[in-house]
Amino acid sequence: MKKILVTGGAGFLGSHLADKLISEKNDVLVIDNFFTGNKNNIAHLLNNPYFELMRHDVTFPLYVEVNEIYNLACPASPVHYQHDPVQTTKTSVHGAINMLGLAKRTGATILQASTSEVYGDPEVHPQTEDYWGRVNPIGLRSCYDEGKRCAETLFFDYHRQHQLQIKIVRIFNTYGPRMALNDGRVVSNFIVQALSNEDITIYGDGSQTRSFCYVDDLVDAMVSMMNTPKEIVGPINIGNPTEHSMLELAEIILKLTGSKSKLVFKPLPSDDPKQRKPDITQAKDNLNWEPKVSVHDGLKETIAYFKKVLGA
Ligand code: NAD
Ligand code: UDP
Ligand code: UDP
Repeated sequence: MKKILVTGGAGFLGSHLADKLISEKNDVLVIDNFFTGNKNNIAHLLNNPYFELMRHDVTFPLYVEVNEIYNLACPASPVHYQHDPVQTTKTSVHGAINMLGLAKRTGATILQASTSEVYGDPEVHPQTEDYWGRVNPIGLRSCYDEGKRCAETLFFDYHRQHQLQIKIVRIFNTYGPRMALNDGRVVSNFIVQALSNEDITIYGDGSQTRSFCYVDDLVDAMVSMMNTPKEIVGPINIGNPTEHSMLELAEIILKLTGSKSKLVFKPLPSDDPKQRKPDITQAKDNLNWEPKVSVHDGLKETIAYFKKVLGA
């Protein structure tokens, strides 16, 4: 039985990952400081003898004995990561150093949940892993983007300097049940607005694009990446290459919810990337993976979840 640490395991992605690892008969330790995580996401696991929860902030050292580490701790939505930007950078950078130090001492394989934000507002489309990105180092998104870029640097330097077994995945926009209601990301915002018959807030003219991956597909790819041979370190893009403008996304959600909400246009946040779509050739070749869940099916599941949460 493997002992696996999931940092940020009470969050959206981390809690689904913990579910999968537990279902595959691993011993799972979740650490989380509950900044954006929620105990409800993991309440159903608390009585499982192979699950353990610890309140801990990754910016402080942690001494535990594990075989694998999935490093997900970091607020992920622009609203949350810009709330305390200094803490966001500390979480990415000090958090990575501590988890890499832990991996070095225990010999654990460590996987970093990196992000498509390392590409910034990209001139290369779709984004391939060899593209170095176009990131503003001093803007409102920089605490997240540069923090995640520095974490990738640290992973590669620990790999080269201390022979650590590392894995890096660059995650593109992912959605599904357990996204926080107030997290400000587009899928949760539009669904909550549609279900409450409130105005749908389109930032800018809504022509900017994103490519949305359902959480179950994403978690399968992360676990496959952890289980690749040690030469495979990444970074590897994971995401669903089906691209939509925000206007299209709003229309799909209006149709699926049968909502009467109107579209309203709000200012575009600064440094908001105009387009984003993963090239997933590497994931197909190295992980034998591609997403299975269509945006329609994934959104239906997500809408059902938010209906329950809102009592709608
Ligand atoms: P989330 O906010 O739901 O989860 C992040 C978790 O980390 C939360 O439970 C939060 O409480 C915890 N956390 C934050 N700071 C911490 C700290 N200092 N110490 C311990 N725990 C801390 O977000 P998510 O969507 O589940 O994202 C998980 C990871 O995946 C993040 O690292 C994020 O950058 C990455 N990612 C997510 C997406 C996406 O679309 N969901 C895209 C790219 C990358
Ligand atoms: N660290 C940790 N858990 C461990 C081992 C190390 O949290 O099991 C932290 C430790 O506090 C240190 C960081 O990881 O600050 C980096 O460790 P490393 O061994 O690379 O550096 P050093 O201890 O030599 O500074
Ligand atoms: N967005 C929007 N309305 C909202 C929330 C977000 O139009 O209520 C837009 C946002 O400007 C961005 C896209 O949707 O262009 C995705 O935003 P999100 O915060 O979900 O993710 P990220 O920008 O980090 O990809």
